[in-house]
Amino acid sequence: MKKALITGITGQDGSYLARLLVEKGYEVTGAVRGNSQVKLTRLKKLGIADHVRLVDLDLGEINGINRVIRATPFDEVYNLAAQSFVGSSWDHPIYVADVNGLGVVRLLDALRTYAPQARFYQASTSEMFGRVRAVPQNEETPFHPRSPYGAAKAYGHYITVNYRESFGLHASSGILFNHESPVRGAEMVTRKITLGLARFARGEHVPLELGNLDARRDWGFAGDYVDGMWRMLQQEAADDYVLATGITTPIRDFVTFAAEALELSLDWSGEGTNEQAVDRKSGKLAVRVNPTFYRPAEVDLLIGDATKARTRLGWEPKVTVGELAVMMARSDYDDWRPGGPAS
Ligand code: NDP
Ligand code: GDP
Repeated sequence: MKKALITGITGQDGSYLARLLVEKGYEVTGAVRGNSQVKLTRLKKLGIADHVRLVDLDLGEINGINRVIRATPFDEVYNLAAQSFVGSSWDHPIYVADVNGLGVVRLLDALRTYAPQARFYQASTSEMFGRVRAVPQNEETPFHPRSPYGAAKAYGHYITVNYRESFGLHASSGILFNHESPVRGAEMVTRKITLGLARFARGEHVPLELGNLDARRDWGFAGDYVDGMWRMLQQEAADDYVLATGITTPIRDFVTFAAEALELSLDWSGEGTNEQAVDRKSGKLAVRVNPTFYRPAEVDLLIGDATKARTRLGWEPKVTVGELAVMMARSDYDDWRPGGPAS
């Protein structure tokens, strides 16, 4: 039985990856911070909370990392833990650098010292491309991060490559474009949209407030992307791979897909900060722009080229962005409870 450690197991990707590895017969250990406040909502929703062992580990604290790595001879270590919300990284840039950047080298150094046989996955991100130098982006595209989050993740990526080259660790970095699911963080735009519209469709006519509707993302389904992570660690040699769909969609279109799934017909009008959408049936305001949600700096056109993952790993994303919006909107509609949607 293979043993895997997942940091960030309480998060979206951690839960999907844990389910995949449990299905494959792995013994899965999940690293969580502070047992008293552990959120098991996602693991419960995916039906695997009782199939994983939890250990205490904070990426900011080296002693806990060393203790966990020394205690169990893990075959595979997936570092998914991070402060993952780009928007708040301008408010906590130093903490983000510590967790998303230095946290990676803490873990790598513990592996180098106590478990050099373990295979390592680093959760890198398309946000590292930022002000993009080429469209679409692949493993060779230079980085130009546009947020403290992206800058910290770029360090995490480079130190992963460096430990592979310096110490021969089987350390791979997955440069993943946005991927979503019904358990995506409620502050991310897709989930904010499906939660807000599910609430509206249930009759609570509170307008959904969004920022830049012209921003676009290459969105895939988290369930497909964790399969790509696993495939990377099954290769004989460690390497870096982009995972993406190659299709980019504006925020506005994601709103429309989710609205249609909930049988809402939206009439759009206005431009810029005056843009809004009214629900045809109720005549109520369903969506409006609130500049509070604009960012100090935006990334450019993020579109991924996953040719390398397709040819070497046999990886393909299966769920389209339209199917993803339907899946998320219906889940939020079904889980809705009076007084507000479940998050
Ligand atoms: P989530 O925000 O859903 O999960 C993040 C996880 O990290 C949570 O389990 C959280 O624990 C944990 N965590 C945060 N800070 C610490 C810390 N100091 N020590 C230990 N654990 C910590 O993110 P996702 O699942 O969406 O993303 C997984 C990884 O992939 C992240 O590294 C993210 O940056 C990266 N990524 C995600 C993309 C996406 O589109 N989803 C795209 C590209 C990269 P707690 O529950 O205690 O808060
Ligand atoms: P990110 O790609 O990791 O930053 O994922 P997000 O889901 O947080 O944001 C995706 C894009 O949606 C960004 O370009 C945001 O500017 C844009 N966006 C527009 N309105 C909102 C909003 O209300 N919340 C968030 N989180 N993003 C928004």
